[in-house]
Amino acid sequence: MLGPPGAGKGTQAARLSERIGAPVLGTGELLASHIAAGTPLGEQAQACVERGELVPDDVVIAMVRERLVDRDCTGGFILDGFPRTVPQAESLDALLADQRDRLDVVIELDVDESEVLARIRGRARNRNRRDDTAETARNRLRVFAAETAPLRDYYRRQGLLATVDGSAPPDVVSARIDVVLDERSGRNLTRP
Ligand code: AMP
Repeated sequence: MLGPPGAGKGTQAARLSERIGAPVLGTGELLASHIAAGTPLGEQAQACVERGELVPDDVVIAMVRERLVDRDCTGGFILDGFPRTVPQAESLDALLADQRDRLDVVIELDVDESEVLARIRGRARNRNRRDDTAETARNRLRVFAAETAPLRDYYRRQGLLATVDGSAPPDVVSARIDVVLDERSGRNLTRP
């Protein structure tokens, strides 16, 4: 799942996980649990997350490498919030190639910046995320534009990018994702 903070990646990844029975590997969530548990990795990551900056690539890649070998990932997985930089994407390609695996599709959730900021403000009120303050949110959008948006071209070149309009209600976005997956991965989600 590719898209700016607030695009609905986490929501759609969770819904898709229920539909296809594959686990979500969400790096934001993994980092949050490391921070909450006070692990060395969490301590290393905490300041970056609170400022809305990216955690260093090597830290995130090591965390993903560890998670990918868990048994529940053997039948497939949904990546949420990873990769976020070109070096992370290159490392992921190498990791998957080692396991004779590959990505089926990269779903980009396309949502206007003003809509994304409004959603992040709502999430700050409802869920009390420490990185959802107005200043951090703007920073995260800047980081997305500079570091993560180049992944669109990276995956477009590989023929993997599918852009879905993410501004609609969650059910509508889910249905659009199902259509893409039917087309791209040979799954059959739109027909009962
Ligand atoms: P998220 O919940 O995906 O928006 O992630 C929350 C925060 O965790 C981000 O703002 C980053 O500080 C950090 N983070 C999550 N995923 C990554 C990643 N792939 N690379 C670097 N930092 C990340």
